Amino acid sequence: MEPQAARGVLVEKVPLESYVPPAKPSLVGLSRAELAERLGGIGVPEGQRKMRVQQLWHWMYVRGVQTFAEMTSVSKAVRADLEQHFTVARPEVVAEQISEDGTRKWLLRLPSGLAGERAHEVECVYIPETDRGTLCVSSQVGCTLNCSFCHTGTQRLVRNLTPGEIVGQVMVARDRLNDWVDRETPNGNRLVTNIVMMGMGEPLYNFDAVRDALAIVSDNEGIGISRRRITLSTSGVVPNIVRAGEEIGVMLAISLHAVRDELRDELVPLNRKYPIAELLEACRNYPGLSNSRRITFEYVMLKGVNDSLDDAKRLVKLLKGIPAKINLIPFNPWPGSAYECSDWTQIEAFSEYVFNAGYSSPVRTPRGRDILAACGQLKSETEKLSARERQALRAMAMTD
Ligand code: SAH
Ligand code: SF4
Repeated sequence: MEPQAARGVLVEKVPLESYVPPAKPSLVGLSRAELAERLGGIGVPEGQRKMRVQQLWHWMYVRGVQTFAEMTSVSKAVRADLEQHFTVARPEVVAEQISEDGTRKWLLRLPSGLAGERAHEVECVYIPETDRGTLCVSSQVGCTLNCSFCHTGTQRLVRNLTPGEIVGQVMVARDRLNDWVDRETPNGNRLVTNIVMMGMGEPLYNFDAVRDALAIVSDNEGIGISRRRITLSTSGVVPNIVRAGEEIGVMLAISLHAVRDELRDELVPLNRKYPIAELLEACRNYPGLSNSRRITFEYVMLKGVNDSLDDAKRLVKLLKGIPAKINLIPFNPWPGSAYECSDWTQIEAFSEYVFNAGYSSPVRTPRGRDILAACGQLKSETEKLSARERQALRAMAMTD
């Protein structure tokens, strides 16, 4: 391993602010215990709380109602008390875009606790496919990290989302798609069947909120999407990987993107802190890993940078012994990005090499490109980094 100093300094943005709840907070995103506590706070007797929590979870997460008035199994008096103190609000939808391929993107507004700052925005994307519907969910406003090929990484402000804002994205999608349990469809199929934590932000740097939100999303009495249908993607926050397996228990995806530390330091600067060997060791120790529960390694195809057959060879060698799938992602360019997507023939050759070595290696079809909804393109317009700030960040990253 190269010494840290030779590899440059890792620049991480610090979350600038924390969430300030509104005067009338939403009950969305609270665990059963937290909800019981809130109910206690408005005078619901202890003996009733468990039953009320169960009713509220059912109305919020299974039926998707947006007002207490609709919760007809809850007594009128309790409904009135709830109404006075709380809401079941989800993040506010400020824009909805529908791609020609059916992909939908929602721009959501989240409150800012910083005086003088405008409200924040995050994005959430729904991708329909023949056998599933995948929702790509954000975990932070912006991202603390600065991967050189990622648009979100250039965003200036960072705030961690709350569990309610994470669960709320799934609820917004169900609202907008009319996808709650009593939706009338010919075959009764649900539209949102899978979740990927691949929107804005690094989910393992917002560990507790992501864990608590996914507990509600995967709970049978909550949103009810099984852990096997939820994938968490990380750029490699090593100390939290095994913990994620133990405490969150969802499928894991690793943004690998390079097979040598020197290059990965540049593409995914977090590599300077947690280099490839340590990252792969954490993967080997991921709880529950087996041939039926493989880790997905994401690999963005950057022309002339990481796409040679020699890279493919080394990739196969590195992953030896890890039950793995390899997901090749054609690079999605964004205005001002310094890379180009690999040529199609090169992507095919790379994919074939990896496939012949025994790995499933699907190339991710870019979806929703016309509405800038594809991987790595999510970024809110309001929080752009100025050219000067970008230069300063780059300069800091170069300093030893
Ligand atoms: N922060 C997490 C999850 C969000 S990014 C992570 O990095 O894993 C989701 C995926 O999109 C990651 O694999 C990321 O590397 C990839 N990505 C980012 N920018 C991209 C771009 N411009 N083109 C293609 N993929 C990109
Ligand atoms: Fe953050 Fe992931 Fe983008 Fe890197 S790729 S800047 S970790 S969102």
